Amino acid sequence: MILGIDVGGTAAKIGWMTREGIILRRQEVPVNGDGYATPILTSVLRGADAFLAESPDAEGGLEGIAVSATGQVDDQSGTVIGTNGAIPGYEGTAFRQALEEKYAVPVHVLNDANAAALGETFLGGARGCRDAVMVTLGTGVGGGVISGGKLIRGRRGIAGELGHFSIDRHGVLCSCGQRGCFERYASTTALMRMAWEITDRESVPDGRAFFVRVRAGDAEMARVLERWIEQIAVGVIGLVHLFNPEIVLIGGGVSRQEELLIKPLREQVIRGMMPRFAEGFRLEAAKLGNDAGMIGALKFWLDQEKGQ
Ligand SMILES: [Zn+2]
Repeated sequence: MILGIDVGGTAAKIGWMTREGIILRRQEVPVNGDGYATPILTSVLRGADAFLAESPDAEGGLEGIAVSATGQVDDQSGTVIGTNGAIPGYEGTAFRQALEEKYAVPVHVLNDANAAALGETFLGGARGCRDAVMVTLGTGVGGGVISGGKLIRGRRGIAGELGHFSIDRHGVLCSCGQRGCFERYASTTALMRMAWEITDRESVPDGRAFFVRVRAGDAEMARVLERWIEQIAVGVIGLVHLFNPEIVLIGGGVSRQEELLIKPLREQVIRGMMPRFAEGFRLEAAKLGNDAGMIGALKFWLDQEKGQ
């Protein structure tokens, strides 16, 4: 049995998994209850301890720990090497070292967006695909690229920052220091920014409320949505031309909007790409939801242990 840990900015999900990716038991532990005064690693170790204590056959059955973590993660050392400053004290967190010392089993750690992409090709929407791109639309834009059946990891395991290529050098300033990064236009943060330019925050407080308004026939919000989809399409078309995938998966809570988001995005992306890239191409919503990170971490763990 493999212990899966998916570390996010607000909570860590901990689960007990078979090698086939069946999650038998799971729990969530908060990691920022006190504004990160308690380091994330401490919260994770405490959570893992408590979780294992409640699993009767845990000791004998623990074969390894598969971690998916937010931030730039060196996937060989299993250490967080960059965080964009969003979580104080998180950079330098040595997940692999700490967990191996404590539990004496093999530990492998991977960035959460890359893990999600890997998880989707293992058991989700891109199952069986050798060439897939996953784009997750949330407060930022994350993603991962599977090429020739392998995750593109780059030199230090931090490749696949799909939110941070510029689509407009005179564009909106990004937290990474560049202007016009894709995530400044394709994230749900960007969607809400555009909505709030023409309506008040009280009436459309979040993405959910936004889609309710569109569905109710609000023409202004529908135009905002149209602009947002155009912006996402520009980036996705670029990614298709770069990687020639069989499938692009859209992740994040908004991907549940099949009629309002996925369908029109699919049409625009297919219309915009060069014809040869469109043959047999699919664009779908991701399937694994919140489990993607943990399942992808498991796949990474299995591959690493096999020496791949
Ligand atoms: Zn950026």
